[in-house]
Amino acid sequence: MEQPAWVVMKFGGTSVASVDRWTTIKAQAEARLEDGERPVVVCSAISGVSDAIEDILSGCASGHPEQALSALRAKHQVLADALGVDLDREIGEDLQEIEDQVRGASLIREVTPRLHARLMAMGERMSTRLGAAFLRQSGVKVTWVDAREHLRASEAPNTPQARAMLSAECDFLPDPELRVAFSRCEGVIITQGFIARNAAGETVLLGRGGSDTSAAYFAAKLQAKRCEIWTDVPGMFTADPRQVPNARVLRALDYNEAQEIATMGAKVLHPRAIPPCRAGQIPINIRCTPKPDLEGTIISAEGAGDGAGVKAISARRGVMLVSMETVGMWQTVGFLADAFAVFKSVGLSIDLVSTSETNVTVSLDPSANTTDPETMTALLEGLSPLCEARIIGNCASISLVGRQIRSLLHQLGAVLGLFEEQRIHLLSQAASDLNLTFVVDEDQADRLVAKLHARLFASRTEDALFGPSWETLFDRAGQPGLHMLEWWIQRKDELLALAEGE
Ligand code: ADP
Ligand code: ASP
Ligand code: MG
Repeated sequence: MEQPAWVVMKFGGTSVASVDRWTTIKAQAEARLEDGERPVVVCSAISGVSDAIEDILSGCASGHPEQALSALRAKHQVLADALGVDLDREIGEDLQEIEDQVRGASLIREVTPRLHARLMAMGERMSTRLGAAFLRQSGVKVTWVDAREHLRASEAPNTPQARAMLSAECDFLPDPELRVAFSRCEGVIITQGFIARNAAGETVLLGRGGSDTSAAYFAAKLQAKRCEIWTDVPGMFTADPRQVPNARVLRALDYNEAQEIATMGAKVLHPRAIPPCRAGQIPINIRCTPKPDLEGTIISAEGAGDGAGVKAISARRGVMLVSMETVGMWQTVGFLADAFAVFKSVGLSIDLVSTSETNVTVSLDPSANTTDPETMTALLEGLSPLCEARIIGNCASISLVGRQIRSLLHQLGAVLGLFEEQRIHLLSQAASDLNLTFVVDEDQADRLVAKLHARLFASRTEDALFGPSWETLFDRAGQPGLHMLEWWIQRKDELLALAEGE
């Protein structure tokens, strides 16, 4: 039997939060059907809902989650009313289950990772139930599928339980059984991002922002023709367009470049979403739900077919450094092995490393670590026999990302001048030659990113790689992008110039 051309379409939190967005989802899914493709729509929870459930869970510790529970119900009620869907019929039982479980947990004032995963999963379950009902009543044939029936967590031995339940990874080899099962489903298939099942049959999460990863898993398993990531901006940009309105859309990237831009901080695509698509050579297309006609960014094996060059500036906030000082390490055997074993024993994964004769400094990425006070105290205690360890908090990493960064260093002279008055805590040039990263104080990050961006990209003409800026994309479409920003971001350049004149 000839296999249909599967197209996975993932819609993020803001893309499922209003009737307008659902009207776009309907139109786009129907357009795929008309083209002879089979759409698999993967949805996030309504924007703000996953945060709200996390807050409810923390509220269980204080024993008073009632207010947050009614806000959660109200948020879904507003969308259900706008969609013309009956809330109680579609998700009444889900809301009741959340309320019952939360009441139980607040009595004993304890939330296990298992319960955490189960309740967070409700966000995606509820958005897809409301959306499926809307599509169905608008005349679209729909099959609602529970993603947990098809995504199975691959359990690495010795993974701490919280990580295994809340930031699981799944197998993504081509899955002929899934293709057969989905071929039997009618019309548009709609399923959830962010959730999977472990071998014991329990619900697990794929880490915050993990709906992108779900889409990539489905695409790889189905050997899809394309994986579309629909979000609130029209593509991957040279910097976060909400911070830098003149950031330029990147029309085409190869998998490695996109992986690096995402890993170093561009939230628009979860870094774990790239390997499954790369393995299956499936193009990823980032699209904008509020502006569905824009082409967005294509990520594929080819990229823009260009050479060396900086393509984006990514920033990560909330970075923590651990500085380890000792004269004892010089020419001794095994210092790094002993020190890194302490990080392992307290469950911390190291990100960047820089070493000198008497100091080793490493960074901890907050999205991959739980840097709570107990863990950090255990780390310092474990390191104390080996060195004088010190934690430097409130840092940000700023990365220049592109191909063959090493060959560009001589051209970056003027750019590096921007760091003149900055304390650079750590500098790292990736062995992959794809990024050059500076760790600075967090309160300097926005200013530096804006200035670096102006130096590196302001005068670039449009070509196969660099598309229009975010503000012109929205202006061209007749909807000024600047209106979506705070006044102080709109007038950032003026404010920076004023500050410098002082
Ligand atoms: P979704 O809810 O659709 O998954 P996210 O909030 O996770 O959306 O990701 C989209 C956001 O990513 C944008 O609103 C934008 O502010 C941010 N972002 C950060 N860096 C970049 C970048 N380099 N290009 C595009 N967007 C970026
Ligand atoms: N709803 C989840 C989150 O907010 C997953 C996602 O949206 O990607 O983290
Ligand atoms: Mg996201």
